[in-house]
Amino acid sequence: MAAELPSVAPPPAGGWGPWLGAVYRRLRERFGHRQWWPAQDGPFEVIVGAYLTQNVAWVNVEKAIANLRAAGLLTPAALHAAPVEEVAACIRPAGYYRQKAERLKIFCDYLFSRYGGSLDALFARPLGEVRAELLALKGVGPETADSILCYAGGYPVMVVDAYTRRLFYRLGAFTRTDISYDEMQAFFHRHLPADTGLFNDFHAQIVTVSNRICLKRGPRCRECPLADLCPRQGLDEGERP
Ligand code: SF4
Repeated sequence: MAAELPSVAPPPAGGWGPWLGAVYRRLRERFGHRQWWPAQDGPFEVIVGAYLTQNVAWVNVEKAIANLRAAGLLTPAALHAAPVEEVAACIRPAGYYRQKAERLKIFCDYLFSRYGGSLDALFARPLGEVRAELLALKGVGPETADSILCYAGGYPVMVVDAYTRRLFYRLGAFTRTDISYDEMQAFFHRHLPADTGLFNDFHAQIVTVSNRICLKRGPRCRECPLADLCPRQGLDEGERP
């Protein structure tokens, strides 16, 4: 097997794959399948949500999406045709609304100029090519691109984020709190099967446990379904990295 990534600890007995499987099973047993991404208007709503959720709580994204829906703008064609000011007014609850409106319009311009406005045509392309094109768009970083790829496009891509960094550092898998996005993602891709459904729900589980139990300050270790796997369990109070 290839050498482990520099920011990943030596594997436990049995290897990282079975260990990750155990982490996922415990989270799923506790929280159930998370059914992400909740989008009644399909993949385009997921894409809009991936843009809007940058630097804002999801509850605000929901309000912005509801406004877009009420205005009839939750389709590529409608949003492409709408004036940027109208889009911005709808998404005001999501913060940075002028910037986000411009970026959503840029995505639509890209979708129409290259794929005739068809998400099916876009997502028929190979993963690596679509990812590179998304990353070239203004305002799309790896987390947004991978959220679009996994949750809208159905590609087998693991989304990682600051929650992933904190949780897996505490669990002892990552040796550094500044492990890069690419290293984190490579860890999951290397040790798990390329299964879209697994990646979809594993990321959702990580966000859930990080929001409810493995909090930034004062993690609730006594309630944690991962406690028996965690070298830092048992220190419920106080702060830790
Ligand atoms: S045992 Fe505590 S530190 Fe470890 S993952 Fe659970 S909540 Fe986080």
